[in-house]
Amino acid sequence: MSRILVIGLDAADLDLIEPWVTAGHLPHIGRILQSGAYAPMRTTLPVMSPPAWTSMISGLNPGKHGIYDFVRLLPGSYRLTSVRRDQTNFRTIFDHASAHNRSVIAMNIPVTYPPATVRGVMVAGLGAPETGQFAYPSDLRDELLHWGYRLDTDVAFAPGREQEWLADLTAVTHSQTQAMVRLMQREPWELAMIVYRAIDEVETFFWHHMDATHPQHDPHAVAQFGSAILDIHRMLDTEVGKLIDTAGPETTVVLASDHGGGPQHKEVFLNVWLEQQGWLHRQQPRRLNKLRKNMMRHLHLTRENLAPILDWPLAWKIRNRIPMQVQHALVPEATVTLADIVDWSQTCAYSMGNIGQIYVNLQGREPEGIVAPGLEYEQLLDKITAALFELKDDGQPVVDAVYRSRDIYHGPYATYGPDLNVIMRGMAYTAQSWREMAGAEIFSISGTHYTGIHRPVGMLALSGPLVTGRGRQPEVQILDVAPTILAGMDLPLPDEIDGRCLSELLGIGHVNEPSAPHTSITSDRREVERDELNPTAWATPDEEEEVLARLRDLGYLE
Ligand SMILES: [Zn+2]
Repeated sequence: MSRILVIGLDAADLDLIEPWVTAGHLPHIGRILQSGAYAPMRTTLPVMSPPAWTSMISGLNPGKHGIYDFVRLLPGSYRLTSVRRDQTNFRTIFDHASAHNRSVIAMNIPVTYPPATVRGVMVAGLGAPETGQFAYPSDLRDELLHWGYRLDTDVAFAPGREQEWLADLTAVTHSQTQAMVRLMQREPWELAMIVYRAIDEVETFFWHHMDATHPQHDPHAVAQFGSAILDIHRMLDTEVGKLIDTAGPETTVVLASDHGGGPQHKEVFLNVWLEQQGWLHRQQPRRLNKLRKNMMRHLHLTRENLAPILDWPLAWKIRNRIPMQVQHALVPEATVTLADIVDWSQTCAYSMGNIGQIYVNLQGREPEGIVAPGLEYEQLLDKITAALFELKDDGQPVVDAVYRSRDIYHGPYATYGPDLNVIMRGMAYTAQSWREMAGAEIFSISGTHYTGIHRPVGMLALSGPLVTGRGRQPEVQILDVAPTILAGMDLPLPDEIDGRCLSELLGIGHVNEPSAPHTSITSDRREVERDELNPTAWATPDEEEEVLARLRDLGYLE
């Protein structure tokens, strides 16, 4: 039986890969594309790594796994906390394989912290605290560190530090390949997967150097940084070669990205827009309140310092009895957040996240929700959607598409997702809810050094003994990856899986129908019942600070 090796390249996009393969820049990736089958692959919404990778390894739409971002609202609060795998309850291909006594290696997949108990090895990826127990089995953590394995980069991007930043990204990637090769050689495995973050990260900060049409393009910097994105692709191509060599010719190789990549031209401050439309209200600054907060900050009575008391799960029950405004007034954060600025008692909708996510301040879901579920909720979404299509910059419409939650999510965690996902100018315009309430402008040239951002279509390529398809194929869905892998391992498809096995690409004669088409509205009973988040699955304050600091470095938080 053929083993399966999955190599995840975060943000890899055929628009770059195909021409670079043709030009001979990527020989190992080229061999996979030319000897097997490949296709553009559409991702989940919002177009972000956490829901996308989780959907890829589970075959589930986000309504069934409950992961929509790196962060989520702390229950009973408008404050954010980092997402963990075990806050929600779902199974991945590694769980299914383990249940059938197949050995796995799962390395560096975003938001898999804490690592699951599998038959084999799991090392959690982005979102895992380096100080935490990020490896299973637990004694592997020290071994990995002894090998020089690095979970993540140390250097935060800043103009003037580009070379240092690129060198660090490359060193981290090498350390991860080295550990993966050792594990593949030492451990028994039938399914192995690793995710490399480097393309996503380099595109975020260097897209304008490669793209002469980008508004921030500087022709003088091309000589120095114009090839940075290509160089990172070439570096990863070498790593792909090492893994394929280690796996051997009897292994089927799957190359997959969680989404594509493209330029970011402007940030859109959707909360400012919602305010101007009358759907969001700021708190009126009260001088006394401000004075008290400043004094508490001065005394270091910040939320961060009090977090051990406030954020501990058992504190929820107590905290939930205290009105939100009283909490916010009593305990200021070191930095001011949306939770502080917004008057929730008068706010119908708000944006949270950096793609284009709009949430309704819904009764029964948000701690101070004012919009009633049902007709009032639906009518509000109709109005916001209509107004979004009127939003213009430079006299031209900005919004391409608005996706409503009920049309794209189904399952026990469907109500945790954004009520609207907004796609603006092919994603060259993206929301930025973290810094936006400072002024009155809606559109801004990137202030976070972001010049590249995700695209809804990534890629999938397969080659090896199991693969019968050849050449470029029509678009597939990210939800199809997990059922295809399970079928390739000759494992049964669990009922909950939303995707379908790409049997046209595998010579195995499997035709598995998905349990429910993921794009349609189902009358699934589980839609209405809402699964609660696991009350024991929260980071310690130290872990939380470490993870949030890393997300700030990446620009996912401010
Ligand atoms: Zn990604």
